[in-house]
Amino acid sequence: MRRKSDAKSSGFATRAIHHGYDPSSHHGALNQPVYLSSTFSFSSAEEGAARFSGDEPGYFYTRVSNPTLALLEARLASLEGGEAALVTGSGMGAVAAVLWTLLSAGDEIITDATLYGCSFALTHHDMKRFGVSASAVDLTRLETLEAAISSRTRVIFFETPANPNMRIIDIAAVSAIAHRHGVTVIVDNTYCTPYLQQPLALGADIVVHSATKYLGGHGDLMAGAVVGQAETIGQIRVIGLKDMTGAVMSAQDANLVLRGLKSLALRMDRHCASAAQVADLLEAHPAVSKVYYPGLKSFEWYDLAKRQMRDFGGMIAFELHGGVEEGRQLMNALNLITRAVSLGDAESLIQHPASMTHASHTPEERAESGITDGLVRLSVGLEEPEDILADLSHGLEVVSAGRARRHAS
Ligand code: PLP
Repeated sequence: MRRKSDAKSSGFATRAIHHGYDPSSHHGALNQPVYLSSTFSFSSAEEGAARFSGDEPGYFYTRVSNPTLALLEARLASLEGGEAALVTGSGMGAVAAVLWTLLSAGDEIITDATLYGCSFALTHHDMKRFGVSASAVDLTRLETLEAAISSRTRVIFFETPANPNMRIIDIAAVSAIAHRHGVTVIVDNTYCTPYLQQPLALGADIVVHSATKYLGGHGDLMAGAVVGQAETIGQIRVIGLKDMTGAVMSAQDANLVLRGLKSLALRMDRHCASAAQVADLLEAHPAVSKVYYPGLKSFEWYDLAKRQMRDFGGMIAFELHGGVEEGRQLMNALNLITRAVSLGDAESLIQHPASMTHASHTPEERAESGITDGLVRLSVGLEEPEDILADLSHGLEVVSAGRARRHAS
């Protein structure tokens, strides 16, 4: 039976709850079964061989596929508007599985100047040992991209908004340039989720996610995802996932991500609304020298963000006048906002990229990426907005009082 929610015309929140699952095929169970099975039996030796060769559909080993993972994959493909999806055991598992599938020795990858620390380390440090070179290009300036593409360029990889300094990259414009040169465009959509931004509809070829973040939404799992054309996803499944990384997601975690997706639209609306209030507070506070939030009219890429995103997201970066020292004072003065890396959880989380998520960059790489030593990253959570604002105001007052004392002495 084809459920109404499978139709493309169903809204985002409806598909996030129903797509791909029919209770009537599962004893009426409201929620999908969790297949805790690493392997699947064959009715005959011939059937096993046919499943391995792909001549016959069906499961055979969970590192390749499993019905619980397959449901999550179908749902994510629907939400991102892609033909197919693949889930992995972490966001880095997704990034690695894609890149190891698409790149060979002698190839070149172009990334934006700003990238999540481990994605940067993988592309700019680790893959070098295997003969893949990487260049970091300012993708906010399209003329620099055109000049950087060579006959060896296979892939352009970026995040928008970029972690941690919120640079916004024009997905449609970068994709148009890349495709003129036969180059594949990969967008990390972790910060936005498909609810806020749809890179495939804007021209990108592949979307990757750390589903550890907003998609899961509760800080209780590690997960990743890749969405794109069915043929490409098939190749990534066999090469990048099955053989090269083995970064499989557990069925228990797939079940938790499916649960998280049910409230994704609601949660994202709240993250966005609260972050907008926090950004206003930060921008107005005398202790703060700079706020990076796409929803602020003063933000460099406000117009592009407005065009490309449904809303401006729950992530904010900012700097204090007193740089890294005051940033630490602020973090230590907070009582509600939790000092922790990761993002997209119910809890508001604050961290210092230069010494935490982006510590594997060299100081020169950080400078080139525009990740200043004083930058603080805040993931605005789902607590009462008034409580988040009160905690932050208190922290900023502690910083201001310290500054006043230093000036007086
Ligand atoms: N991409 C982005 C934008 C991230 O922020 C992260 C992690 O913080 C990752 C990828 C890696 O994801 P995971 O930690 O799930 O491996």
